[in-house]
Amino acid sequence: MLRRTALKLTLTGAVLLAARAPRFTWAAATSSGTLRVWSVAKGGYVMTDKVQKSPEEWRQQLTPEQYHVTREQGTERAYSGGYSNHHGDGIYRCICCGQDLFDSRTKFESGTGWPSYTEPVAAENIATAEDRSFFSVRTEVLCSRCDAHLGHVFPDGPKPSGLRYCMNSAALNFVARDRL
Ligand SMILES: [Zn+2]
Repeated sequence: MLRRTALKLTLTGAVLLAARAPRFTWAAATSSGTLRVWSVAKGGYVMTDKVQKSPEEWRQQLTPEQYHVTREQGTERAYSGGYSNHHGDGIYRCICCGQDLFDSRTKFESGTGWPSYTEPVAAENIATAEDRSFFSVRTEVLCSRCDAHLGHVFPDGPKPSGLRYCMNSAALNFVARDRL
């Protein structure tokens, strides 16, 4: 009888732990504190603080479309964004917090109407989460510093990564390499 009670308690504990599992799988396991991320300008890792703002603060800083994409998991219409056909040499930063996200050297023509990259500047600069909206399972990509929604990553990209980071232009801010 005692053993059965103990087993029941253990199972309850496991269920509770599973329910409390963090939403983010990589860097953004915590919503506050410091992060170690890659800085392209410095050519190395730097420590930075997480950025947390209220919806009102984000609305003041962003255009309505930027807010919808980054803070409400929106998706801009294909070919509507400014970076799908953009070929400058530089870095694409987070529109919300300025973190380095993608290098133009990893950008490729995906033919989708959204800016596409084979990899982020460093794994630590992004976070990923499972997205079960629209009756499918996709991998959402977020900024690891401010949790901005950036887009999704798909396993049908070119070699060597084989990945296609399909981003929204509205979530990005391009900075030319000679202005870093
Ligand atoms: Zn950010």
